[in-house]
Amino acid sequence: MRHLLGTAISLALIASTAVHAESTQIMPGGSRPSAKGPEANFTGSVVVDPLYPSNEHTSNTGGHVTFEPGARSAWHTHPAGQVLIVTSGTGWVQEEGGAKRVIRPGDVIWTPPGIKHWHGATASNGMSHMAITNMRDGRNVDWMEKVTDEQYLGGRSNGSTGN
Ligand code: MN
Repeated sequence: MRHLLGTAISLALIASTAVHAESTQIMPGGSRPSAKGPEANFTGSVVVDPLYPSNEHTSNTGGHVTFEPGARSAWHTHPAGQVLIVTSGTGWVQEEGGAKRVIRPGDVIWTPPGIKHWHGATASNGMSHMAITNMRDGRNVDWMEKVTDEQYLGGRSNGSTGN
């Protein structure tokens, strides 16, 4: 009797899983090819691993970006802002007119819309971060000029401070 009951429960479970189509998506690691950070927008060796695109419910994109020592983004702005979450290494982030600031694993960085900035590894250590970048009118970034070695190795950017 116990065996029959167990069989009945098992069959009921199979039936219920068969009729329930899952809506939750698991997008496996390794299913999205890595891409090299384009020369036009980055200096040095940068690997971009796409995590997810925006969709009708989520107006941001996710990516994991890995910078070798010395590598960094070009100057850029985000029309609707960006969150960075550092996952490994040691990096720098700097907004125009501001100080170059060290970022480490676990740090969460919010850059508001329209703020000109760059982010990357330090000169001596690599750095990886998640980038969650909000979309506005189909765009999430506006690229500008490269970060010069002088800017990269200096402490303060050229900008409103005049330094
Ligand atoms: Mn950015």
